Amino acid sequence: MSLMSDIAAAASGAGTVLFRAMCPDCRARCELTAQALRLAIGGSRRTTFYSFTCPECGSAVRRPAGERIVELLTGGGVSTLRLQPVAAPAAPTASNV
Ligand SMILES: [Zn+2]
Repeated sequence: MSLMSDIAAAASGAGTVLFRAMCPDCRARCELTAQALRLAIGGSRRTTFYSFTCPECGSAVRRPAGERIVELLTGGGVSTLRLQPVAAPAAPTASNV
C-alpha cells in the first residue's frame, strides 16, 4: 500500500497519541509523541509542513503536510505554528529627503 500517508497516528495505552512517521534519511519508522512534532501552517501548501528530529539518525525532517495531516496532528495535540503570510516589508526609501 503505497498510498499511505507519511505519518499516521496510533493511540498508545496511556491515552496519549503516538505518531508514526518515516525518516527519509535512514528510513526508520519513528514513533513520536505530540511534543516531538511541530506543525507549521502557512498560507500555501508549500509553507505548510510538519517537522521532527529523527530519533535514530538525528536528522531534521521536514515534510509537507496536507489537510488531512494537519487535522491529524492538531487533533493529536501537536503544537501548531501559524506562519503569518509574509507581507512585503516596505522598502527602505533610498532618497529620504
Ligand atoms: Zn533518521
